[in-house]
Amino acid sequence: MASTTATGRSFTSETALETYATGLRNAHALEQQATQLLQRQLDRYERYPEVSQKLQQHLRETEQQIARLEELMHGMGTDRSVIKDWATSIMGNLAAIGHTIMPDEILKNHFANHAFENFEIASYTSLIAMAEATGNAGHVPALRQTLNEEETMATWLRQNTPAITLKFLQLSEQAEKADR
Ligand code: MG
Ligand code: FE
Repeated sequence: MASTTATGRSFTSETALETYATGLRNAHALEQQATQLLQRQLDRYERYPEVSQKLQQHLRETEQQIARLEELMHGMGTDRSVIKDWATSIMGNLAAIGHTIMPDEILKNHFANHAFENFEIASYTSLIAMAEATGNAGHVPALRQTLNEEETMATWLRQNTPAITLKFLQLSEQAEKADR
């Protein structure tokens, strides 16, 4: 067996290819979930313009990520109409957090966004390993580009957690004073 990957293994079976193709479809469903999650949050961060702006930017990136995945899936012979129909709720629990109307929803959404980006990071890291191991090394640059975007987003969210938290405290205090 040819040693073409970092782990020295290559997988050429139909099963391996199918597993990789399923991984691409799951990532595609995940990105569609991401689109909804981001869209739903945009108007809620009106008092956090820097967050809102970042979410907007990542929404545009996510649309490109979906297009990238569709190219890869199409290249593997998946029909475009089939691709459009894939919808799963693997991220349902996280997405549901976007619905909450608790006063601290901003912070909870922020935590969920952080979790979501890290889920994406693991997904694309896994896809890159599978692409390399199944003879689809040509897919790696596209997958890596997306992975870089997810890592940049995750880092931004993490680094801005203290600032967003303090802004939340400040707005809470203002609201309390206004009530008196
Ligand atoms: Mg994404
Ligand atoms: Fe993302």
